[in-house]
Amino acid sequence: MTTNDQLFERARQVIPGGVNSPVRAFRAVGGTPRFIARAQGAYMWDAEGTQYIDYIGSWGPMILGHGHPAVLEAVQKAAVEGFSFGAPTEREVELAEEIIRHVPSIEQVRLVSSGTEAGMSAIRLARGATGRSKIIKFEGCYHGHADALLVKAGSGLATFGHPTSAGVPAEVVQHTLVLEYNNLEQIEEAFTAHGPEIACVMIEPIAGNMNFVRAAVPFVRRIRELCDQHGALFIFDEVMTGFRVAPGSAQSLYAAAIPGFRPDISVFGKVIGGGMPLAAFASSRRIMAHLAPLGGVYQAGTLSGNPVATACGLATLREISRPGFFDALGAKTRALVDGLKGAADAAGVPFCVDSQGGMFGFFLMPELPQNYTTVMTTDQPRFNRFFHGMLERGIYLAPALYEAGFVSAAHTDADIAATVAAAAEVFRTL
Ligand code: PMP
Repeated sequence: MTTNDQLFERARQVIPGGVNSPVRAFRAVGGTPRFIARAQGAYMWDAEGTQYIDYIGSWGPMILGHGHPAVLEAVQKAAVEGFSFGAPTEREVELAEEIIRHVPSIEQVRLVSSGTEAGMSAIRLARGATGRSKIIKFEGCYHGHADALLVKAGSGLATFGHPTSAGVPAEVVQHTLVLEYNNLEQIEEAFTAHGPEIACVMIEPIAGNMNFVRAAVPFVRRIRELCDQHGALFIFDEVMTGFRVAPGSAQSLYAAAIPGFRPDISVFGKVIGGGMPLAAFASSRRIMAHLAPLGGVYQAGTLSGNPVATACGLATLREISRPGFFDALGAKTRALVDGLKGAADAAGVPFCVDSQGGMFGFFLMPELPQNYTTVMTTDQPRFNRFFHGMLERGIYLAPALYEAGFVSAAHTDADIAATVAAAAEVFRTL
């Protein structure tokens, strides 16, 4: 048997840091990442044959669990028909129709291969459609690793950001303004100072890249008003929340609270590909008409709308469209977070939780944080002890305190109970 340690050592020789995406490296929590050999339903097995209950679900896509029979069948059939044609297919049309059917704010969809590509293209579209350069994003929101989005806040309010990555020239982020999430004053000031130059405001409506922080309804409402007043576009990055928190995605929750609410551009990924490399950006016909080949905003992709990926996404979306799917998933996720909260309370550990649909977050603090600064006040060593205690007990949680968790339809009540029982043990050791 090859151990995780041996594989990690081998991986580090040929792959930088041994991983193809940084958070997999366990850098924040320490220890050796598990090399996964296979997965089925709610479970994964590593190279050593150890079984885990999986609450990462590939960071969101696996909403049905691993190896769902209908999805597997669709993917196998599509693979036999052909891997990639570089020409249009009926299935791309079907997937676009299926996405649009659930999300009233969009009329057209362009498929791409990753959330990064989708977010980057959405920004280009917003800039092309408005003829403006400046963009607003929020601290703690991640929209992929496009240059203009790898930015942290400047030293003063309404100053433009600094790159968060080497290799990103300051000039490239000079048009990106980074504001505090849920801070109404800052967004007001930004529009007062730069209104006519702002192309778009981009937000994660429920920020899953700072664990789980909801954009407050008045905050979203005010951004919508400011965008309308100043001719800017409002982009909802639903790569994580799309078809994960509700059938109509997070925007349906805001539309229920704010009459007539809709974002101008939506970005999807993860669930719409069901675990295959697939993402999308979408908007009204009027805005999407700016895209090539119709308009002057260029965007393209050799594997865009890939026939195997679209088969996987379509089969996934059809399963989650069944009546009652989200009620059951939401109840299961709530049972998990309520159980964790009860176990933490019993052990006297400060703890709070939130969830929506099949997405959840928990914090080792008494009250839900509203922004990134507060999230990062978490007692990191304590989180790391919790993470490793759970991992030792076969519970695979995200290896960083700023990542959301995911429950799938394949998780059983017994899985949830086992997770809560493990947490109760671990809390007593914290
Ligand atoms: N936006 C959000 C909200 C995300 O969570 C992610 C990935 N976690 C991305 C964009 C980037 O997607 P990808 O990793 O597929 O490039």
